[in-house]
Formats: sequence, C-alpha cells, structure tokens
Amino acid sequence: MKTLSVIGSTGSIGVQTLEVAAERGYRVAGLAAGKNAAALERQILQFRPRVAALRDPQAGKALAEKLSGVCDTRILWGEEGVCRTAALEEAGLVLNAAVGIAGLRPTVAAIEAGKTLALANKESLVCAGELVNRLAAAHGVSILPVDSEHSAIFQCLQGSRGGEVERLILTASGGPFFGKTAAEMEHMGPQQALKHPSWSMGAKITVDSATMMNKGFEMIEAMHLFGVRPDQIDVVVHRESIVHSLVEFRDGSVLAQLSPPDMRLPIQYAVDYPDRQYAPRRRLDLAALGRLTFFAPDEEAFPAMKLCREVMEKGGNLGAAVNGANEVAVAAFLAGKIPFGRIYPMVERVARAVPFIPAPTLEDIFETDRQARAAVTME
Ligand code: NDP
Repeated sequence: MKTLSVIGSTGSIGVQTLEVAAERGYRVAGLAAGKNAAALERQILQFRPRVAALRDPQAGKALAEKLSGVCDTRILWGEEGVCRTAALEEAGLVLNAAVGIAGLRPTVAAIEAGKTLALANKESLVCAGELVNRLAAAHGVSILPVDSEHSAIFQCLQGSRGGEVERLILTASGGPFFGKTAAEMEHMGPQQALKHPSWSMGAKITVDSATMMNKGFEMIEAMHLFGVRPDQIDVVVHRESIVHSLVEFRDGSVLAQLSPPDMRLPIQYAVDYPDRQYAPRRRLDLAALGRLTFFAPDEEAFPAMKLCREVMEKGGNLGAAVNGANEVAVAAFLAGKIPFGRIYPMVERVARAVPFIPAPTLEDIFETDRQARAAVTME
C-alpha cells in the first residue's frame, strides 16, 4: 500500500489527490496546508493522518486545541511544521501541491528526507531548479511530474533511451484571453481572468494561464525535469486540452499523450509510477470530438513566455525574481488593486531590477524572492 504526505492538501490539486487516495486506498500519513483550518479539519477526520500542519501558526495552534482528544493526529504549525510533514518517516512519497515559492522548503525537506517527490509545485523548479536537481541527485531521490503537460512528456518518454529526444512540445490551452490583443486585455478584471476554458484550478495558476506566465513556468519546469536545452522546448496552443504534450524523437517520430482533461490522471500516474492502474475516468471519444486544433502562441500579446525563455538561458536567481514579482502582482490583481495589463510590465521591471546572482544558494533564492516582493510593493 502506498503511504503519502500531501502538502497543499486543501487546494485544487490537493483535494483531487485525496480523491484519488480514497479511490485507490493509499494511506495518507501527513497533510499540510496554508491557513484553511476548516478544510484541513475535515480532511483529518476523513483520513486520520499521523501528522497534519498549517503554515499559519495561530490557525494551527487553534486547530490543535480543537482536535485535542478528538483524534490521534498530531497537529503542527509554521513552516517547520509543514516541512516536518513533508519529511515524515512513514510516508514513502510526498505530493507537493502548495502554491508559490511557499512550496520550495517542503520540496527541499522531502528530498533531504529521501522521499520520492511527486511535484505539482512548479515554482520550486522555476525558483531553484538547479539546486533542487542537485539535491535530488545527492539524495538519490526521483522527482515525478504532476503537471499534466510534464506527466504527458514523462509518459511519452517511458522506454526511450538518453539522446533520442529532439524536441519537447508543450501544449497550452491559451487561457481565457486567447486571440485577444494586449489593448483588449489591458482592463480585464479577475472575473474574466478566472474563467478558464478547460481546467478548474486555483486562482493563482488560473491568472498565470491568462498571462501565459504559466506556460513560461512550464517551459522552465520541463527544462529542469527532463534535462533538455532551452531550444529543445516548444509550445503550441491547443484549445481543446486533449493532447497534453508531445515528444519529438531524432527519427522525426512524435509521441503524444491524450485524455479528457482531468488532473486526477497525472496525479494517479505519479503516485502509482512505475505501475499504471485502473482509473474510473471518462474515456476519450475522438469521433465525438471531431477535430483537434493547434496554433502558434502569440508571444507579442503574451510576452511572459519570452521572459521565461530568458530565465532558461540565464538561470541563476532570475527565475526567483520573476516568480516573486509575479506572485505579488497576481495577488494585487486578484484583490482588484491593478488591472490585468499591469501584471506583466510590473513583473518584467522588477525582475530586471533585482541584482543578478549567477550561482545562488538556497538562501540567495529566498533573499531574491524578498527583494522582488519588496520592489513590487514600492511601485
Ligand atoms: P490552490 O490555490 O488551489 O491551493 C494551494 C494549496 O497550497 C492550498 O492547500 C493552500 O492552503 C496551500 N498553501 C498555501 N501556502 C502554503 C504554505 N506556506 N505551506 C503549505 N501549504 C500552503 O492551488 P492549486 O492546487 O491550483 O495549485 C497548486 C500547485 O500545483 C501550484 O504550484 C500550481 O502551479 C500547480 N498546478 C496546479 C494545477 C491545477 O490544476 N490546479 C495543474 C498543474 C499544476 P490553504 O487552502 O490553507 O490556503
């Protein structure tokens, strides 16, 4: 029986992971979230993990008091509590679905504890991909993708040997603003940006899909997960979200992974890997779909992808600077403080203002994040 810890258990991916866990009979040893005590409490009472943690210390302490004598789950709090949940002895696998750079320390804690890491938290790799890979190699830990595009590529790569891959082609839904010009998007608000055409996801990644920063982050993620050069990664817009990504091999053959859009599939693939188990999901009906469409992305209207290509080329702490600025700008947008058109210019300006460090330590990455956040706030 698989035993796992789920970090970010109350979010979109976390909840779907627990659905899969209930279906498949995985044992849940640890749960961690940010501050949503009510949702975490429900999950604790359903799954009876040995440990559960809230990042917010007050909410964590209050939950510990409330559940004392009610169940045996040990309640922890603060960043340390979340990291201890990611390093739990009895969990063989950690699924990290925290949002933002908040997922980086749990990623490091899981790797240092020798856990197999199923990674939804792409920001860990955007901010510190090289460091995370080095650490995983040093501890002999596998990082398994949860993001649907990267899971698709990972599935297409099964059975292939090193050196055979020519190109990774990430598909992009194009988000809610596909086909719009920069001028048309300028004054859009959260209501419009949160209407994703094919996926129901957390608010931050949905806004990142609208700016296409998400696709830029996924290019960086793919580079680190699959060890390819930046020029080996392409993006094609595919509105139907049926083809989740493709791999082109050196003989010109292209493999793709297809399914109706449902994150429970890549979640289950990562947890069960290397096995593939039955899943009670909607099946693909190509005749009913009729046709699938593909377009080149518009990098003029969505310049975030260009900035992320620069991150891939330059490396260092640039990814952390872009991510930190983006997290604050997206939060300001969601709070109604800035219009959609302000997000990207803010991120680009801040990313270029933060001093570049070519070979950062983990603490340099967190310091870069702090600097980027402070620079956005000062605007
Ligand atoms: P949500 O916003 O829905 O959920 C985020 C989760 O992170 C919540 O459980 C939240 O807790 C928790 N959290 C926030 N801060 C911390 C912290 N400091 N420590 C521990 N947990 C914390 O996000 P999503 O589920 O949409 O996305 C999660 C990650 O997965 C992101 O990196 C995203 O890019 C990636 N991803 C998501 C996909 C999707 O379909 N949603 C698809 C592919 C990748 P609380 O509820 O208490 O605030």
